[in-house]
Amino acid sequence: MNRADMLARAADRKEPWDLVVVGGGATGAGVAVDAASRGYAVLLVDRGDFGAGTSSRSTKLVHGGVRYLRQGRVGLVLEALRERGRLRRNAPHLVRDLAFVLPCYSRWDKLVYGVGLKAYDLLAGRSGFGRSVGVSTAEVVRRVPTVRTAGLRGGVVYHDGQFDDARLLIDLVKTAADLGAVVLNYAPAVGLTRGPGGAVDGVIVRDGESGAEFRAAARVVVNAAGPFCDAVRRMADPAATPLVAASQGSHVVLDRRFLPGDTALLVPKTPDGRVLFAIPWHGHTLVGTTDEPIPAAPAEPRPTAAEVDFILETAGRYLAEPPRRADVLSAFAGVRPLVRAGGANTAALSRDHTIRVDAPGLVTITGGKWTTYRNMAEDGVDRAAELAGLPRRPCRTRDLPIHGSVAPEVRRLADADPALAERLHPALPYTAAEVVRAARAEMARTAEDVLSRRTRALVLNARAAVEMAPRVAQLLARELGRDGGWAAGQVRAFGELAKGYLV
Ligand SMILES: Cc1cc2nc3c(=O)[nH]c(=O)nc-3n(C[C@H](O)[C@H](O)[C@H](O)COP(=O)(O)OP(=O)(O)OC[C@H]3O[C@@H](n4cnc5c(N)ncnc54)[C@H](O)[C@@H]3O)c2cc1C
Repeated sequence: MNRADMLARAADRKEPWDLVVVGGGATGAGVAVDAASRGYAVLLVDRGDFGAGTSSRSTKLVHGGVRYLRQGRVGLVLEALRERGRLRRNAPHLVRDLAFVLPCYSRWDKLVYGVGLKAYDLLAGRSGFGRSVGVSTAEVVRRVPTVRTAGLRGGVVYHDGQFDDARLLIDLVKTAADLGAVVLNYAPAVGLTRGPGGAVDGVIVRDGESGAEFRAAARVVVNAAGPFCDAVRRMADPAATPLVAASQGSHVVLDRRFLPGDTALLVPKTPDGRVLFAIPWHGHTLVGTTDEPIPAAPAEPRPTAAEVDFILETAGRYLAEPPRRADVLSAFAGVRPLVRAGGANTAALSRDHTIRVDAPGLVTITGGKWTTYRNMAEDGVDRAAELAGLPRRPCRTRDLPIHGSVAPEVRRLADADPALAERLHPALPYTAAEVVRAARAEMARTAEDVLSRRTRALVLNARAAVEMAPRVAQLLARELGRDGGWAAGQVRAFGELAKGYLV
């Protein structure tokens, strides 16, 4: 994928696109893959980098949602479990089976959680993930050697899927491009156009790098702007009532010694009635999350001190060595686009997706979760195609493989130029070849794109990422034909951003 080429194809097209998708998160990328695989002409634009919004800030679980089961929302769990199985089949390079232990401090808990997780297995059917089982205290300790043992009465082990959200996102965007879609990052939709009959018939797109604007004519516009979808809806109808309620969720990342095994830990009930996960991820321990209603989504959400303390305190009740603020390597926040259902408690709002047509020619699709991005996209494209009167074509994504692993290409680059095999930081596994590859094949445009999403350096270890930034900026400048001043600006901007990830 080459941005200059994508920009030229987007700006020069004379005839209307079948669909223009606004927003390149899980929802928009899913819609682009679905529509392109049906043979529709698709343009996907994101105002920043692909996945820079909520879709790179999740707990990284492909899951049915055990906590929704507790809420009795069987349909939602069933749908997510079905999608969990499909995603593992279609992206086996990215989704892996992860065992979780739920530590029990009373026999009653063990019985209740054991029965609940058996129901989870039954709903999953033959989805290929491991079965849940009650285990002894010794087995809990074997799996999670750092667990607090005072009063421990065994536990329940169950299974879900784990993935890398930003990586899957880029692979989806590449899949869409392979299928003929034109995909453009740093390209905000700044306005919608209407035809003589009043229907939305195009998007004004700004090239975020040059500032130039062009109109992308569309048979239908799909608004997949996540927490910002109301702003896009207001481009068509300034009086549109808000559809989403924003809720912030944060995570902290710790050293692997806090969870040295391969099994994750599930805290089944936090003081605010949620669940908390501690998960082994890329050689580190990822802990979260929170659910804080916020009045509006900021472009760059930051974890609050109270969220970080809540996560550390809650995890500390279950770990023999409670983590402290000084142990936090990185902390990050994301904003859930929850569909409003009235009431103030966002933990109880809908995780189902919603499709809304506010004006002819404009379909908004939001809500849902990463795990269900594919069926959200299927429903969204069905609705958009119907609205635009496109020829009916069946969905093809249920068994569609998602673009494969990056490792062979990185190896090839390093073999051709051994200097690129250089490790960028002793604390993280990334090499210079990954930066070059991200720029050449994945439309990485900034140090942040490389350090936050093409690699996960920023979310794994913010200080290490800051130390990597000068070399990354230098490599990127060479690839993108930029000068030393540009590279210095990248280092400065990244340093500012990274402050928000340091506790
Ligand atoms: C803390 C947290 C943990 C989560 N954990 C999980 C999990 O473990 N598993 C799971 O299945 N789900 C999880 N989710 C849910 C999941 O992450 C979200 O449902 C999903 O990422 C939403 O994707 P989206 O594409 O709708 O939104 P986003 O990813 O926010 O994408 C919207 C995009 O639109 C772009 N945009 C906005 N305005 C414009 C414009 N004018 N022009 C062009 N582009 C624009 C933005 O830049 C952004 O990239 C979690 C969510 C949170 C917040």
